[in-house]
Amino acid sequence: MTGVDAREAAELLRAATDVTLIAHVNPDADALGSALALGLGLHRRGVRVRVSFGAPREAPNSLRALDFEGLIVPVEEVPHAPELLVAVDCGSVDRLGGLADRVAAGGPVLVIDHHASNTRFGTHNLVDEHAEATVVLVLDVLDELGVVIDEPIARCLYAGLVTDTSSFRRARPRTHEIAARLLESGVDSDAVSRELMDTHSFAWLRMLSAVLGRAEFEPDAVGGLGWAHAVVRLSDMDGVRWEEVESVVDVVRTAAEAEVTSVLKQVAERRWSVSLRATSRVDVRMVANSLGGGGHRLAAGFTTDGSEQDVLAAIRAELRDPTLI
Ligand code: 5GP
Ligand code: MN
Repeated sequence: MTGVDAREAAELLRAATDVTLIAHVNPDADALGSALALGLGLHRRGVRVRVSFGAPREAPNSLRALDFEGLIVPVEEVPHAPELLVAVDCGSVDRLGGLADRVAAGGPVLVIDHHASNTRFGTHNLVDEHAEATVVLVLDVLDELGVVIDEPIARCLYAGLVTDTSSFRRARPRTHEIAARLLESGVDSDAVSRELMDTHSFAWLRMLSAVLGRAEFEPDAVGGLGWAHAVVRLSDMDGVRWEEVESVVDVVRTAAEAEVTSVLKQVAERRWSVSLRATSRVDVRMVANSLGGGGHRLAAGFTTDGSEQDVLAAIRAELRDPTLI
């Protein structure tokens, strides 16, 4: 449960000969970029490294190119009692899915994360909720280790930075400085952004059309600030990758009338992964927390069981909480 800084995290890593880096289920660019950047840096130092995540079996298409040295392994190749486990971009043990038991194994666990809801489940916790992305913390650790930030490592870091800051819209001056440094290492920002954010299958357009056609807006919700919601059903997802399903919220949340946006993504007949977004005034992390999830003030989520209407009703009820505004 100890809080550590980047120097102390680096000391722990420097002493290790075998490091297992794990990201949250359905890893995004910040999670996988963090694990792979740190993995590459440690690999260069002669450390035995593997990167994994609880689900799905393979990395999202758009992130596969970041695995420059083939560090990603399936869950069953993750040792049951790792010498040193590093969990990145993961606020709580349950977000590790099928790899949560590796934390329970009792060995040292270094948590590197930027979620305010982080439960400090590691034996060592490098957690800074003010960091805009986990990759920022990973860069600090790599610097402490004296790792040279070459283009592959920089590309992994940049991928996390550009996505978690919504293309630098939510980036402080220091974050722009970090981006400048990564670009100077040779990252092609246009190519990375296009690959990560502007490339979709045609099936995605069809899915989007169906989902947006059913989207609804409730003007009176959240004390009149407005709530837009959409639902992506399993039947909408034919030929569409999960990461494309996850990007639907970025379209729905552009509705000017809505302070709060939610997108329900069906993962099984009665199971839903829900994305919550707010424009500026509402703390959707409170909503997510009440419904068993977590996240950040303006971007949070939870996973729950029930019918589509049950889940919408549960969110609607939480949005009546007057302390949200
Ligand atoms: P997204 O909507 O992009 O999937 O997630 C936004 C944020 O909400 C993530 O950074 C994560 O912190 C949080 N989040 C999303 N889904 C879950 C969930 O099922 N459980 C928890 N604890 N947090 C979630
Ligand atoms: Mn993140």
